[in-house]
Amino acid sequence: SADAVGLTESDAVATLRRVFGYEAFRGEQEAIIDHVVAGGDAVVLMPTGGGKSLCYQIPALVRPGTGVVVSPLIALMQDQVDALRALGVRAGFINSTQDFDERRMVEAEFLAGELDLLYLAPERLRLDATLELLSRAKISVFAIDEAHCVAQWGHDFRPDYLALSVVGERWPDVPRIALTATATRATHQEITQRLDMRNARHFEASFDRPNIQYRIVPKDDPKRQLLAFLREEHAGDAGIVYCLSRNSVEKTAEFLCRNGIEAVPYHAGLDAGTRAAHQSRFLREEGLVVVATIAFGMGIDKPDVRFVAHLDLPKSVEGYYQETGRAGRDGLPSTAWMAYGLQDVVQQRKLIQSGEGDEAFRRRAASHLDAMLALCETARCRRGQLLTYFGQEPGAPACGNCDTCLTPPETWDGTVAAQKVLSTVVRLQRERGQKFGTGQIVDILLGRRTAKVIQFDHDQLSVFGIGQELSEAEWRGVVRQLLAQGLLAVEGEYGTLVLTDTSGTVLRREREVPMRKEPKKPAASRAASAV
Ligand code: ADP
Ligand code: ZN
Repeated sequence: SADAVGLTESDAVATLRRVFGYEAFRGEQEAIIDHVVAGGDAVVLMPTGGGKSLCYQIPALVRPGTGVVVSPLIALMQDQVDALRALGVRAGFINSTQDFDERRMVEAEFLAGELDLLYLAPERLRLDATLELLSRAKISVFAIDEAHCVAQWGHDFRPDYLALSVVGERWPDVPRIALTATATRATHQEITQRLDMRNARHFEASFDRPNIQYRIVPKDDPKRQLLAFLREEHAGDAGIVYCLSRNSVEKTAEFLCRNGIEAVPYHAGLDAGTRAAHQSRFLREEGLVVVATIAFGMGIDKPDVRFVAHLDLPKSVEGYYQETGRAGRDGLPSTAWMAYGLQDVVQQRKLIQSGEGDEAFRRRAASHLDAMLALCETARCRRGQLLTYFGQEPGAPACGNCDTCLTPPETWDGTVAAQKVLSTVVRLQRERGQKFGTGQIVDILLGRRTAKVIQFDHDQLSVFGIGQELSEAEWRGVVRQLLAQGLLAVEGEYGTLVLTDTSGTVLRREREVPMRKEPKKPAASRAASAV
């Protein structure tokens, strides 16, 4: 790498062709690479699969010295380095998985100027020994991958990243490039600030993935819905099914296998050998389905993933976008399918409230969840909603390739229904000092004399039986949409419903509440027939 003399544009293109075997740069790659090769700092916002790696690998090859790549994905470093070595790139890594001798060897190569790229885990840069090592050889570029991990407001914060500001202080003349696939404007600003990259040029690629069809269906019998979706639209295709818990990962994988779909589980509770075996089968085979927790997929580079399915609600829009972004990297039509129900909301709130983290952390987690709910319940184009969330202009008001565009949801005036739900919550709270979950509220509205209704005398409430005009599923839909619109909140271990600051506007009839109609037919087949 050190022998590049004239740092011209063609060096970058020549390296692209000679080393990586690609014909041309994609999108903003060339502008980014030129800027960094010339010594400039860059903050790069590019969706998963957009081709971020080349943005620092090529400058590292073209500029003299070793490119230092900071990445939190320790588990992938070996693979990344192996892949680079197979291309003839002199790459190495230093992280906690190595023994002393292995590390010494990499250090020696670095000091001898024999490495083009050195991958480091972020916690390494907290060690004086590492900083001292790095100061003893020439560095061509610092790349900070997954840079959103520095953002405390983000969904993936890693305290070790805060130490990375030291890089700019100690190596003011070495260009830095921070890369991320998941950044709202606020996260973007935090990256710039915390990494002290005020003079960096910003590159923002479009987050639109036009070949991915986004669909979100009401959850009813999720495993069956998934099976129908796979059989009708993705028979024999490779894909990823995300579940929240290890237990549901196992159960879902078994269920799919029993029903003739080749599926393997993947979660952190499996031993490393099994995980590695399942991952490499997924990469090698054509039609394997991996059922996984979010532990799976970070950095997985399989171009022909035809679908990503979520059986549980992701914690944030960033997470959803990143996970669904693993579909269709080859640009061919792919599906992002999700089944989502009220129980997801209750469960996630519970997790937030019982989880670790201080009050600010919980508030943040709650606002991420709210944004996710808004995406689920929106009656507008999903793609438009996603792009707006990431601070980008949608190309058109309707994309024509998401469920809300393909089968525009019918809307109805849910104001009266909303008032009924909210006044039931108010009555229970004000008259009885009680809080209940959705099940009890719906039973009261429907006028059901269940044991629990009798036990609490809820058949004596004036609101008892005032909601016979809607079905149970429809009432649940009303509650979900109230939650998504912030007109109702759910709290505590039992998922009890409580009022919010804005509930009063509905109760006082100061506003209308438009709602999406619940589909009558089973969601999976309805969506399928629409395409
Ligand atoms: P990201 O890190 O942004 O998710 P990667 O750097 O892993 O994306 O790139 C995604 C895929 O696209 C990889 O298979 C990569 O080799 C390929 N790729 C990147 N740039 C180009 C290009 N200019 N031409 C062809 N393929 C490319
Ligand atoms: Zn759309």
